Amino acid sequence: MACVVCLEDGAAFVCECSAFHLHCFASFLGRGHEECTICYGRFDRKLKAEALELLCSRTSGVLGTDHHTAMVRKLEMAVALADVGRLEKAKRFLDELISTSEGPDWIPCVSQVELARILYHADECLASCCILEDLLQKLVRMKARWAWLEHLEACTVLGSCYANMGRFVDAERLLLFAMDGHLKDKHACLRKVVKCMQSIAKFYHLRSDFALACETHRVACGILEVNESDPSRVALAAIELAKSEVRAGDVLTGVVRFRTSVRTLRKRKHDEYASDGILDARRELAKLIRPSKRLRGKTAPEDC
Ligand SMILES: [Zn+2]
Ligand SMILES: [Zn+2]
Repeated sequence: MACVVCLEDGAAFVCECSAFHLHCFASFLGRGHEECTICYGRFDRKLKAEALELLCSRTSGVLGTDHHTAMVRKLEMAVALADVGRLEKAKRFLDELISTSEGPDWIPCVSQVELARILYHADECLASCCILEDLLQKLVRMKARWAWLEHLEACTVLGSCYANMGRFVDAERLLLFAMDGHLKDKHACLRKVVKCMQSIAKFYHLRSDFALACETHRVACGILEVNESDPSRVALAAIELAKSEVRAGDVLTGVVRFRTSVRTLRKRKHDEYASDGILDARRELAKLIRPSKRLRGKTAPEDC
């Protein structure tokens, strides 16, 4: 496969449309490209993590590890490593960024939010809360826009931790505060709004408000259907809605939505987020439609 940068052979697909060599991909990411502007997909997370590791070591080698740009690269790399499950390494890099006194204020703050997010996903909610409760006190006193955005992000993660811990009153207060903050911001990033909404839906689910969880997922899907160019993100959010429709008792609608979403995802051949989503959705769908033994072997559940 030819690389889109150097046109030489031996490249691998990093999204639906483009193949790169690792070092060519690293330079491409270094120019600030976060996802593909042609197929609108997210980049392959493993290749992205590898390319960012390469970029980070190259930047630190040339500019020194204390240089602002090297620190930004380290933060990007840590987030990418967490995304592929290399948590210990990601945590170590974030710890280093948190304890440094060099560089701009936002780097340790954003690093703390990212570390707290890793801990939340690893079910270490108490440790995550300790970081975020402390950080929120600092963020409220800062006047910059980034501090306000991180404040909302920290409230979303902390609210989700409280929800997992059964502290529903605190969870609701923080999550709705974050949502309100996003809605008042006319330049809000819609993906962040949707993520916050999905956290609220998860909170309703944990509180056993299944109908409300379903409605919240429906609104999130509605926003994505109108504004999102990445078909995988739309389909993955639809799968979350389908799951909550089933939980709320509307199995028929859920099954139809599972089928259409999986059919969208299976067209995304080089998108790992899509292939992971398919596995999960097919399992859920198979439980609901229980295909006969004869069909099970040869036919995917969405085609049964
Ligand atoms: Zn190349
Ligand atoms: Zn692409």
